[in-house]
Formats: sequence, C-alpha cells, structure tokens
Amino acid sequence: MATPQKHYDFYKVVQDYLDRAATVVDLAPHVRTILNQPKNEIIVNFPVRMDNGEVRLFKGYRVQHNNLLGPFKGGMRYHPQVSLDDVKALAAMMTWKSALMRLPFGGGKGGIKFDPHSVSRHELQKITRRFTHALGENIGPDFDIPAPDVGTNSQAMAWMMDTYSNMVGSNQKQSVKGVVTGKPVASGGTLGREKATGQGMIYCLIEWAKERGFELEGKTMVVQGFGNVGSNAAVILSKLGVSTIAVGDHTGYLYNPEGFNAHKLQDHVKANGSIAGYPNGKAITREEFFATKTDIFAPCALENQIDDAEARAINATVVVEGANGPTTPSGEKILLEKGVEILPDVLANSGGVTVSYYEWVQNKRSESWSEEEVDERLEVAMKRAYRDVSDMARNKKCDLRVAAYAVALQRIEAVYKEREIFP
Ligand code: NAD
Repeated sequence: MATPQKHYDFYKVVQDYLDRAATVVDLAPHVRTILNQPKNEIIVNFPVRMDNGEVRLFKGYRVQHNNLLGPFKGGMRYHPQVSLDDVKALAAMMTWKSALMRLPFGGGKGGIKFDPHSVSRHELQKITRRFTHALGENIGPDFDIPAPDVGTNSQAMAWMMDTYSNMVGSNQKQSVKGVVTGKPVASGGTLGREKATGQGMIYCLIEWAKERGFELEGKTMVVQGFGNVGSNAAVILSKLGVSTIAVGDHTGYLYNPEGFNAHKLQDHVKANGSIAGYPNGKAITREEFFATKTDIFAPCALENQIDDAEARAINATVVVEGANGPTTPSGEKILLEKGVEILPDVLANSGGVTVSYYEWVQNKRSESWSEEEVDERLEVAMKRAYRDVSDMARNKKCDLRVAAYAVALQRIEAVYKEREIFP
C-alpha cells in the first residue's frame, strides 16, 4: 500500500527524458531552453469555512507549462501529496501529450494539497468553488482548461464550470462551458469522457499487440489503482477476454486467480470509495501484488510506484502506464533489461486529453456527439499515435518513452521555428 519512501524528484525525471529525446531529434537548443521551465506557476492560498465552523486555509496550484499549440490543458488533482514540483512535471507531460496527439492544446496541471476523502461533500464543493474563484482569470475556455485527475471527477468539474460562469457577465455564461472538460454529460460533458483514458490505453495496447502478434484473448492483467483509469481499463479489457487477477488501491491489495468481475468491482468502488471490503478476493501484500505472474501489468494509481524492487518483482510481458510517471528511471531500466515492454504514460494515457478536446469542440459548436463517434475518433487517434511512436523508436533505435517525447518535441519545434521568438 505504501508508496516507496525514497525522495522522488519527478520534475527532474521529466527534464531528463526531455534531454534524452532532445538529443535523439537534435532539438534546437533554444527550444530546449524554453521547454525547460513552465511559463507560469500560480499558487493560491484560500480560506474555507468547514462544517464545524472553523476556517481552514488551503493551498492550490496551477502550473501553465506551454501554450504554443493552443490553450493550457490539464487536470486538477486533490491529494495530500500534491506539490509544486510534481505539478510542474505533470504540466510538462501534458504539453508532450497534446503535441503527440496533434491537439490544438498546450500543457498545464493543478491541484490542491489535501485529502478529499477527509472532508464532507458540502466542504468539497466549497473548496472547489473557492479554488476556482481564487484562480480567477488564470483559467478560461481559450486560455487554460482544467479537467479531472486523481481525487477529482465530473462533479468537481460541474462545480468549477458553474463557479466560473458566475464570474463572467451574464451574456457570456453559455459561451464559457468549455472552461473545463470532463463535465457530467447533462452539464455539457461528452459521452465517452468518463472511460476515455482507460479506453485509450486499450486502443494503444491493441495496436501494440497487433504489431507484436500478441493474442489478447485469454490473457491476464494486474491493475494498481482502481479509480477512473484503472477500473475502466479493466472493464474494457474484460470484454476482450482478458481477466483481472490482482487489484490494489490506497487501502490494500486483492488477488483472485479466477479473475475479478471488473464491472462489479467498479460498482463496489463507486459505492464505497475503495476496493476495501470487496468479498471475492484474497488480501495480499504490496510485495505479493507486484510479484503476481501476469501478462499485462497496468499501473493506474500514482507516480513513483515501480522502483527497483517492484521492477525486479514484476513478472509480465508488457506494462501499460495508465498513471502518469508510475515507473522510475531505474525501475524502467530493470524492466527493459528483463525484456518487459513499456507503453509509456505520455502515449498510453493520452485518451483522456484527446476526448477532452472532443468535449471542448462540442461545447464550441453546441453539438453533442454519440458515444460511437467519440470512440471511433479516439481509436483512430490512439492507433495513429502508437504507430508514430513505434516508427520513431525503430528509426532512432530508442525506447518507446523517449520516442513519444521525441515525436512531441519535433511538432513543437516546427512551430517555434516558424513563429520564432517574440520580440
Ligand atoms: P482516481 O482518483 O479516480 O483513482 C486513483 C486510484 O489510485 C484510486 O484507486 C486510489 O485508491 C489509488 N491510489 C491512490 N494512492 C495510492 C497508493 N499510495 N497506492 C496504491 N493506490 C493508490 O484517479 P484517476 O483519474 O484514475 O488517475 C489515476 C492516474 O491516471 C493518475 O496518475 C492520473 O494522473 C492519471 N491520468 C488520469 C487521467 C484521467 O482522465 N482521469 C488521464 C490521464 C492520466
């Protein structure tokens, strides 16, 4: 259950990958310099009166990494471990994802350092609204567009959108729906967004499997994190005949060699907030979880989960990174030396931002697309991105993570070369 205790400098890790990819594509030094730091780092401290009458001060972040290709775009995380450096790392990764997926977006990320499970629904609403108000004009449908991440969901997005629309003139209320994505469908969200990140992971995995001649039906999967990303990936894979035999979250780990019913486990988590208390599984330790023999290992919780010990323990053919930054560089080295393939976060979990883009387009056009249309577009986008990354890896003889960064950097560099630097 515990996260490895060694200090993990996530932002430095992202910068190191940026360096490696920059070398691979011979990136112009001035582009490397620009991308080294975010454009804006916003910190807001805001008070909220809690249910017991006391006033508590919260610290919120919004990091705007780059907006060359379009508005800053990225999730809002509510978690006790949120820090400026981690948000910087996540914001930079959003810049690479948007570029890799050919979206007219840049990269941003934000969050609040607190445990959302420790407050009431009423308090959660007040915290979300006050945070949105504190950010003020630092967000906007054509400037910076938040979305859900760890600890936030479509409900939080509905509160953000509603708060923002009450901060603009009444003649603008309808045109600012796109200030956030991942909203509930009735409030301007899109069909297919809830499952989009898990769905995108699976499209990516299918394309990888096709390239490798790997038959998915009858295979097994192990999933760390059974929230939005992990549970939807498990549900979608179960329809392709893949059984989930071990799961874990912040409360512990469960094993079932017969395979969990992913739908029922997802319902249990929605009703209870975690996998704790789910009857059809045997409790195992974190160590046993990572050592479970499986075909597919899907880290879908947090960063810094697969370090050296976990990488040595993992007994899988492929790791599909639903989470951002789940594998440390030394963990990655061990996995690759063992011949375990890694479908990296920047590629594998970019279905979320891609369907967020579809939501934003629908808001702009006052349209609502069918779930089939959303899925079809996502499938084309994910499979194309996989092939772009796979081709880069083959041509430059690098791993898929460096290749994903490299494809993104080439696209960003092309625009910097055309537009040059102001003034
Ligand atoms: P979520 O809040 O819905 O779920 C998070 C899961 O991680 C929960 O099951 C939680 O119990 C588990 N978890 C938290 N701390 C843990 C710990 N210490 N050990 C084990 N498990 C732990 O969040 P989510 O939206 O599913 O996001 C999961 C990951 O996917 C994050 O890295 C996020 O940045 C990434 N991601 C999310 C999206 C999206 O659209 N939601 C898009 C791209 C990437």
